[in-house]
Amino acid sequence: MAVYAGFDLGGTQLKYGLIDAEGRILFKDKAPTPATIEGLLDLIGMLWTGLKKKSPGKIEAAGFGIPGIYDLKTNRVLQSPNYGGLDNFELIPAVARRLDVPFWVDNDANMAAYGEWAHGAGRGVSSMVLLTVGTGIGGGLILGGNLWRGGRGYAGEVGHIIVNPDGARCTCGLQGCLEAESSAGAIVRKYAALTRTADVVTSSAITSSAITAEDVTAEDIYNRAKGGEKAAREAFARAGYYLGIGLGILINLLNPEKILLGGGVMTTGEYLLAPAVEEAARRSYRASFAACSIERAGLGNDAGIIGAASWARENLPRSESFDCGPKF
Ligand SMILES: [Zn+2]
Repeated sequence: MAVYAGFDLGGTQLKYGLIDAEGRILFKDKAPTPATIEGLLDLIGMLWTGLKKKSPGKIEAAGFGIPGIYDLKTNRVLQSPNYGGLDNFELIPAVARRLDVPFWVDNDANMAAYGEWAHGAGRGVSSMVLLTVGTGIGGGLILGGNLWRGGRGYAGEVGHIIVNPDGARCTCGLQGCLEAESSAGAIVRKYAALTRTADVVTSSAITSSAITAEDVTAEDIYNRAKGGEKAAREAFARAGYYLGIGLGILINLLNPEKILLGGGVMTTGEYLLAPAVEEAARRSYRASFAACSIERAGLGNDAGIIGAASWARENLPRSESFDCGPKF
């Protein structure tokens, strides 16, 4: 049987696994992400040896989803906010020395979007957006039945659409990005601002450095919201409001058949989603909103592995080189 390997590199964990031709997971595991690039490459080499032993068939190809912007022209990672060692690193030749099959590298959120489209909640549509709402907000676009990567591979950065021009400072350096207003960190900041004494918060421009009020997680805030705490519900409602503005932009711009919402924050139920959908309806053309199904993503934490592996599978018959580029 034909088997494909997928690697999903995160700031804290490297998730990896094997899928069959139908996208079913045959094996999966995870390892802590090494601090250095040399450690990462050694780990990949070691895992590869292990995967080949475990695989019930020949591993035909491998895919890697990596955090940051991946440049298709130079085959280098340009900006990896959570894994600085990758910046400008020539990943392809280094990985090629450790793998004996063709492999492809792309942005992790692109790979997750591809996975959801090929084998998850996006099956059967030709246009789709995946938004992963967690510590940050990642995303990927499927347009015309293909992963949309843009001119050099930078497309799909939906987390950095500006939804609040005077809003919170984002990790990318801009202000009021969707990620800065609606991610798990944003919910915590909003909650901190709401529960702080009123004179401390004087403007809507809350910077991340100002978060000192409480050491709580978005999950804690969710539990407080469920318990009826007004500030907790309001923090979700405000984050949901900006998420809805982002969804409205995507709906009007792309007229997608589906928008899939994944990531840890989306497990917090309706406190975020309901205001987001309400605001998206208010901020987009009625016909376009009506034609878009906003749903939860289907593959959970496996989307990256399945996406990277199936992306490699998809590209394999059409390319004999390691050039990483799609052949449209
Ligand atoms: Zn940003």
